[in-house]
This record gives sequence, structure tokens and C-alpha cells, in this order.
Amino acid sequence: MAPRSARHSNVLGHAVIGALALTASLGQAPVVRAEAAPGQPGTPYANMPALAPIGVRTDRYLPVSAENTPPPIDPAKGYRTQKLGDGLYMVTENAYQSMFLVYETGVVVVDAPPTYSAHLKQAIAEVTDKPITHVIYSHSHTDHIGGVTDLGGRPITIAQEETKRLLLRDRDPKRPPPTVTFKDRYTLKVGSQVLELSYHGEAHEPGNIFIYAPRQKTLMVVDVIFPGWMPWRRFAVAHEVQGVFDQVALIDKHPFEILVGGHVTRTGTHADVRTQLEFMNDVKAAASQALKTTAIGEELADEDKTNPWAVFDNYIDRVVVKCMNTVTPKWQDRLSGFDVYIWDQCFAMEQSLRID
Ligand SMILES: [Zn+2]
Repeated sequence: MAPRSARHSNVLGHAVIGALALTASLGQAPVVRAEAAPGQPGTPYANMPALAPIGVRTDRYLPVSAENTPPPIDPAKGYRTQKLGDGLYMVTENAYQSMFLVYETGVVVVDAPPTYSAHLKQAIAEVTDKPITHVIYSHSHTDHIGGVTDLGGRPITIAQEETKRLLLRDRDPKRPPPTVTFKDRYTLKVGSQVLELSYHGEAHEPGNIFIYAPRQKTLMVVDVIFPGWMPWRRFAVAHEVQGVFDQVALIDKHPFEILVGGHVTRTGTHADVRTQLEFMNDVKAAASQALKTTAIGEELADEDKTNPWAVFDNYIDRVVVKCMNTVTPKWQDRLSGFDVYIWDQCFAMEQSLRID
């Protein structure tokens, strides 16, 4: 609690804020609007959720469930490797996930996150001495493929054609454009191993593909499913929020047994996919209901009613507060990290419902 009391004594020391504003900052009687300077926090919205809003420091986040607490990472190595099936391995540092597939004369790597790409060759060398012959890009984002040059050599690189378009645009030396592209489907047969690549349209990002290892019944789709966890903010910075809903439903129909989502602490199952879809549908229903039951301009100062951005800020905040209050009781203990990004999800959902 030291930082908090230090901050308050600092406020007292400056003695520039009126007594009413000070009591508000201490969480006591709310300041009346007339006392708050323009642009300063005023009276809190009614029924503010207990979870800290964006921009308010959280001293302790909600605990992570035992199921989602991962095996430790050896700090000397910076990663751990998990066998998924015959010749197929996941590499992770418990935040990002990539895969490699060993066949008779080489290795296929799927993604190279920069957070541990410097160690990827070592992770592979612990399993096989065969060379890396192919690299598959799940999509163009640098946090998943920006470590590809750490792999060395001159592997064949494979991606969907939209990923090539984006990489040609970005001209990033850390993300060389793929040497092989496809539009809808591509089957990579290497020795006795197979990877089936397919594209199902825009959701997280144009060019983001499904990568399926049929023999190992393992499906990798990055930045769409977060097994056991709250999705990354704004439905994982979705290019198309509705596309993400459609793709989560599509993934549930896929006959995989192990899902690699590219993030968080473990692999996933169909139950995880269904849980995420249920959560997303609950957020959608809550935001939709809040949009219908919130009045525009409620409690807005008369002077601000000709400021359209202010009118919408006030309206959207009220919608998000309602969305939060609706979904929190059911979900705060069901998804790890719920408190971290639920404000973002409610903001993203109301935005998508209003404009998409
Ligand atoms: Zn991404």
C-alpha cells in the first residue's frame, strides 16, 4: 500500500486540488460536478464495477486457476518443450506458443515468436539433429513470426497469399515474405508427415490460417482461441470481430483433439473452444442489451451537449459499465485473467455492435 499513501501525501503536498476533489480521490464522498475542473474525473457512474477500469492501477489481479498455472520455465533456457504427438512438439515460454514437426530428413517449424526465437534451434536440437527445411507463418504479425531469421539457413517459407501481401507492404527485414503461398488450401507432405493448411477468411487478421496435423490430431490457429483464459484485449485486436465469432464456431466443428492457440499457458480442447464461444456470446448479449437500455446524454452537462464526442463518450462508458456488471458475476472465476481485459472486451463489443 506504500505507493498509494505516497501518492496521496504528494497530492496533499501540492495542495492545489479542492477539498471535494481530494475526498473523491481518496474514495470517499463523490465530488459534485460543479467542483470538478473540465477534463477532470467527476462523479463516478452509478453502479461502477468493482474491477478496476483501464488506467487505474491494480495492486493485485484476480488469481489464476491451478489448471491454467503452467509448468515452470527454466530461466537458463527461456522456454519449455511439450510433445503433442508423433514427431510434433510445442515450444513455449508460457505466453507464446509455436510448433515444430520432425520428419525423416528434416524439421518443419510453425511460427518463431521473438520472445524465445533465439532459443528455438536449441529446443529443436534437443529432439533431433535434422535441419530446418520449412517454416510456416500462421499470419503476418511480428510477435509470432518476427524471430524467423534466428532460425538461420534458407528454409522454404509458406503462408497464405494475404500474409505475403502484408509482408511486402511492411518491408520488415525480420519478416521476409514467404517463398510459397496459397489461397484456400495447401497440403505439406514431408516424408511420412503431413500438415494441412487452410484459410477461412478474415477474423483476427487477413491471412491467418488453420494448421492441422492429422496424424497427431493437433490444430494450430493463432490469436483466436485462448484456452482457459480471457482473450487478449479487444478480442485479440480483431481485424473483424464478427469474423472471430464465426471462426471460433468453425474451430469447434473441426475434428482436432489438441488445440494450439499461440498464446497463454496450455493447449486447448473442444471444451475450451465452447467456453470461449459462450463467453463471447454473453458479452455480445450484455453489450447489445446495454445499448438498447441506455439513454444518450444522461447526466451530461448542458454545455457538453453540443460536443458529439462527449455525448458518445458518456453513452459508451455507461454501456460498458452495464456490460461489465452483467458478465462479471458468471465469468470472473471461469476465465483466468478475466479482470485484466474485460473492460477492453466490453468496449470492443459495443463498438462492433454499433458500427459493423
Ligand atoms: Zn496476431
